[in-house]
Order: sequence, then C-alpha cells, then structure tokens
Amino acid sequence: MVKQTLEDWRAEARERFGEKTAAWRFVCPKCGNVQTTQDFVEAGVEVKEAANMSYQGCIGRKVQGKGCDWAAFGLLGTLGKGRIVVTPDSREVEVFDFAENEK
Ligand SMILES: [Zn+2]
Repeated sequence: MVKQTLEDWRAEARERFGEKTAAWRFVCPKCGNVQTTQDFVEAGVEVKEAANMSYQGCIGRKVQGKGCDWAAFGLLGTLGKGRIVVTPDSREVEVFDFAENEK
C-alpha cells in the first residue's frame, strides 16, 4: 500500500486531477465506485463532510441505490487497496485510492 505524507498526497492529486479538490476522484475498495466531493455535494451533503467522505466513505452511505456502505475508517480499512496518508501531526489516516481519470 502506498504510504505518503499529506503534502505528497495533495501534490499527486493535483497532478492527476487539477487544482479543484471537488473534482478529485477516488475509488471505493469494496465496490469500485468512483466518486468525487462534487458527487456528495450534489447528493445534499454539506461541503466539508463531502470532502472528507469522498476519500473515506462510499457514496452508498449517502445515496441509496449507488455504491455500497464501505468506510475506510471501519475495522477493515481499505482492504489493502487504499493508501495511508501521514498527517503533519504524524497520524496515519487510511484513505481510498485515487481513481483513474476519465478516458
Ligand atoms: Zn463502495
């Protein structure tokens, strides 16, 4: 599993998806759903929570009939398919992996 600092993770996300964090794409390790902060906002989730959920909780936790109920902060983390981000205060946070860009 990739383990990187928050700074490196942000840099990689910008490189992949651009400056707009709402457009950063993450993939659920359980069902493979690809999601962005924007998807959560459109589902009525408040922006700050939407940003956090985009890389830690599957859209199915908020939207019925889409994705699943997986969460990276659950017991099984990201099933070994995610990443570990090390925060400036040395906490290790497990997050969903980046999704590929749309072709
Ligand atoms: Zn899912």
